[in-house]
Amino acid sequence: MNDKRQLEKIYDPKPVEEKWIRFWLDEGLFVADAKSPKPKFSMALPPPNVTGILHMGHALCFTLPDIITRWKRMQGYNCLWLPGTDHASIAVHNVIEQSLAEKGLNREKVGREEFLRIAWDWKTKYGGVITGQLKRLGASLDWSRERFTMDPGFSRAVKQVFVSLYAEGLIYRDYYLVNRCPRCQTVLSDIEIEHKDLHGKLWSVKYPVEGSDGFVTVATTRPETMLGDTAVAVHPDDERFKHLHGKRVILPLQNRAIPVITDERVEREFGTGAVKVTPAHDPVDFELGKLHNLEQVIVIDGSGRMTEAAGPDFKGLDRFACRAKVVEKLTGLGLLVKVEDHDHAVGHCYRCKSVIEPHLSWQWFVRIKPLADEAIRVVESGEIQFIPGNWTKTYFEWMYNIHDWCISRQLWWGHRIPAWYCRDCKHMMVAMEAPAKCEKCGGALDQDEDVLDTWFSSGLWPFGTLGWPDETEDLRTFYPTDLMSTGFDIIFFWVARMIMLGLKFRGRIPFRHVFINGLVRDLKRRKMSKSEGNIIDPLEMIDKYGTDALRFTLAALAVPGMDLALSEERMAGYQAFANKIWNASRFVLMNLGETPAAVREADLTLADRWIRSRLAAVTDSLTRSLEQYKFYEAADTLYHFVWHEFCDWYIEFAKVGLREGLRTTEAVLADTLGRIVRLLHPFMPFITEEIGQHLPGAGKSVAVAPFPEVREDWRDAEAERTMALLQEVIAETRKVRTENKIPPREKVDLWIKSSGVEDARLLAAQSASLQTLAGIAKVEFAASLPAGADVLKGVAGPFELAIPREVKVDVAQEKERLEKDLAKLGAEISRIEQKLANADFTSRAPQAVVEENRARLAGLLDRRNKVEKNLAHLRPAS
Ligand SMILES: [Zn+2]
Ligand SMILES: [Zn+2]
Repeated sequence: MNDKRQLEKIYDPKPVEEKWIRFWLDEGLFVADAKSPKPKFSMALPPPNVTGILHMGHALCFTLPDIITRWKRMQGYNCLWLPGTDHASIAVHNVIEQSLAEKGLNREKVGREEFLRIAWDWKTKYGGVITGQLKRLGASLDWSRERFTMDPGFSRAVKQVFVSLYAEGLIYRDYYLVNRCPRCQTVLSDIEIEHKDLHGKLWSVKYPVEGSDGFVTVATTRPETMLGDTAVAVHPDDERFKHLHGKRVILPLQNRAIPVITDERVEREFGTGAVKVTPAHDPVDFELGKLHNLEQVIVIDGSGRMTEAAGPDFKGLDRFACRAKVVEKLTGLGLLVKVEDHDHAVGHCYRCKSVIEPHLSWQWFVRIKPLADEAIRVVESGEIQFIPGNWTKTYFEWMYNIHDWCISRQLWWGHRIPAWYCRDCKHMMVAMEAPAKCEKCGGALDQDEDVLDTWFSSGLWPFGTLGWPDETEDLRTFYPTDLMSTGFDIIFFWVARMIMLGLKFRGRIPFRHVFINGLVRDLKRRKMSKSEGNIIDPLEMIDKYGTDALRFTLAALAVPGMDLALSEERMAGYQAFANKIWNASRFVLMNLGETPAAVREADLTLADRWIRSRLAAVTDSLTRSLEQYKFYEAADTLYHFVWHEFCDWYIEFAKVGLREGLRTTEAVLADTLGRIVRLLHPFMPFITEEIGQHLPGAGKSVAVAPFPEVREDWRDAEAERTMALLQEVIAETRKVRTENKIPPREKVDLWIKSSGVEDARLLAAQSASLQTLAGIAKVEFAASLPAGADVLKGVAGPFELAIPREVKVDVAQEKERLEKDLAKLGAEISRIEQKLANADFTSRAPQAVVEENRARLAGLLDRRNKVEKNLAHLRPAS
C-alpha cells in the first residue's frame, strides 16, 4: 500500500479549501484562452457592489453558475467566467458621506476633487473584500480578466456609448419633473422607487373666485404644494363648473390670481371634480402644464425645503413642517372645508426610505422606445430565454410600458457626464475628451456636474468587459455570452438594459439564457433581515460546515421558480454527506493494491455490473438536469446515488469481492469512485479535488478532468433487476433480525421459498453476498419452509423467508415482548388514524405530509400484522 495515497482520518475543510483555492489560481486553471479552438462557454459575473459583503443571496447567485461553468469546463469547453465589481454610486456616497459626517464635514465642504480622492482611497483599501469572499466560495472565475466599472477601459466604453447615443438623438437633455430623494440628494428612476400605501389625509380647500363671492373647492393630499399652484382644472363637460370657464381664482396664502382651465383628463369623480394644478411638483400636473402653457413655480427645493417662491411665511421650512403650517393658516382663514382619512400610495426611496419628491430640473434621458422594440423582439423570438419562463411575462409587461430613462444623478462618484457648457454663450458640447474651448465663441467650458446612473454603465457589462469599443479577440471569441444568472429584482434595472445596449452596440444579444434565482428565505419562508434576526451568514456557514456543504445545500434547494427555505440543519446534513464520501473514499483507497487493477469483463460480479449500470443512468440524468438548470434534481440524484447506492450497498458488496481477491472489483471500485468525484466536483469542488488527487491516475486537477460520459454499454437491466431482488431479501432479513433482537454477530440460517424458478436461480448465484450482508450461515432454497414456534418469518418480493432459531426462544418472554410491541403499535396506529380522520388536518396540511402519514400508517399496519402472526405461532406452544 502506498501511504501517500491515504486520506486524513477526518475531513477538515478549512486547510483543504485554502490549499486548492491557491492551487487552482496559481495554476491558472480558470484562465480562458481567446485563441482556443475548443467551443467556448462564457458568462459575465453580475458585478457585486464594490462596497459589498457576501450575503446568502450572493452565495446562491454565484454558486449556481459556478456549478454550470465547472461542469462545462470539464466537458471540454473553453470557459470564461469574467469577474468584476460595480462602482455603486449611491452605496459609496453613503459610506463616504457617513464618515465625513462623523468629522462634522459633508461633501460640499470637502469639494468634488477631495471627495473623489477619498472615494478612490476607500475603494483601494476595502473594495476587494467581496472578491476574496468569492474565492472562498470556490467560484471558478478568471481573475486575470477582472474588471471594475470605473477602470480606464470600461470608462472609455461608457463615454463611447453616451457620445454615440447622443449623436443619434437617443440621448437628450430636458427640463423635466423627476423623482428626487431629498435625503440622498439625487434623482431616482421610476423603478428605484418603492410604493407604499400610507394612511394619509385628503384636505378640501376653498379658492375664492376672482371678482365674485363664490368659491371653488379643490382636494389635495399635499397641501404644501398649493403654494406653487398655477391653475385649477375642471372637465369641460362638467355642468357644475360651466360658469367658471374663462374665469380666474385667487390662490389663498399667495394672493395670486390663477386661471381655471378645462381638460378632458380631469376625473369628475375625484374630490369635488375641480383639481389644483402644480406643474413643478406633480407629474400629471407637469404634463397638463406643458399642454396649457402654465407657469412652473418651484416652491420645494432639492433637499425638501420650501423656496423663496413659497412666500415669506414658509420659506426655509421643511416640506412636512410647511404642510402643518399651511393647514393651520387655511383653518384660520376659514378656507379649509374638510379633512378626510385617505389611504394612498406614496413613493419612497429604495435606499433610505425617504418620501420621494417630484422635482423640476435639467436632466439627461435615453430615448428608450427604439431600443426597447428590438429588446422585445429577441425575447419574443426565443433568442433570449428566461428560466423559469414565467419571468418572460414580467419582462414584457415592463418593456411595453417603458418610459424614457433618466440617466443623470446628482452625485460625484461615477462616470461624469461627458457634456460641457460654455460660460459665455451657453453652447453645449458632448465629446469623448474635454474640448479646450467653446466651438462657437471660444469661451471657457464647464463640465456637467452630474454622473451617470450606475445601471447605465453596468448595462454595458457583457461587452464592455471584453475590451469594447476595440474589436478585441476576447470580444470576438466570448460575445455573446451564454448565461446570465441573477435575481428577479434586477430584471428591469439591469437585464433589460444589457439586452438593449448589447443589441444596439454589438448588434447581437448579450446572452442566450437568463437564469433567475429564487430568494433565500428562512424555514418559515420569511425574508432574511437584521430586524427579524434570522440572517444566515454564508461566511459563518463556511467556517462551520465547509464551503462544499454550503454549496450543496444551495443547489439542493434551488427549485426553479421557487424561493429557498434555508436552514442550518440542512447544511449540517450535507456536511454529514461530505463526511460519508470522505469515509467511503478512505476505505476505497486503503483497499487498492500497489499496482492499478484492470477490469476483466468475465470477472465482473453482479454488484460490479449493477453499480456500472447505475452510474450510466445517474450520469445521464445528472447531465439532463444540469442542461435544464434543475440544480435541485441534480443534487438529489447525486446524493441518493452516492450515499445509498454507492456507500450503503456497493461498498458492502465490494468487500465480499475484495476479500476473495477479485482485482476486477478493485478496479470497478476505484473507477466508480473516480467518476463520482468528477460528477460531484461542480457541486463540491474542494473535497472532490482532495480525494481525486489521491486516486490512482489522478491528472493535474479534477477541475479540468473530463466530465464522465454516459456509458450506454454499461446499462444492464438484468443486473439491476437481480440486484433489486437481492437487496430486498437482505433488507427483509435484516429487519426480521432487528425486530427479533438477534445480535449482529450471530449467524443464522435462511430458508427461501420462491414462486418462480428463475428468481430462485438468480438469487442462488448470489448466496455468498447474501450470507455476508445479512449475517447468514447457510442459505437453503426449498419448496416449503420450516414451521413452528421457533421459526421467524418474512416476505421479500417474490420470496418467502424463514429463519429457524437454533436457540429455543423463551416462549413466555418472547410472548411478553411481542405483546408489548403490539400495544405500542396499536397506540401509534390509532394516533395516526385519528389524525387522518380529522378533516381539518387532511385539508389543511401539505399533501406531502398527509401522504407521509398514510404511508407510515400502512407500514405500521403491516408490522402489526406480522407481529400478530408471530404471536399466533407462539400460542400453540405456550
Ligand atoms: Zn434616499
Ligand atoms: Zn460659447
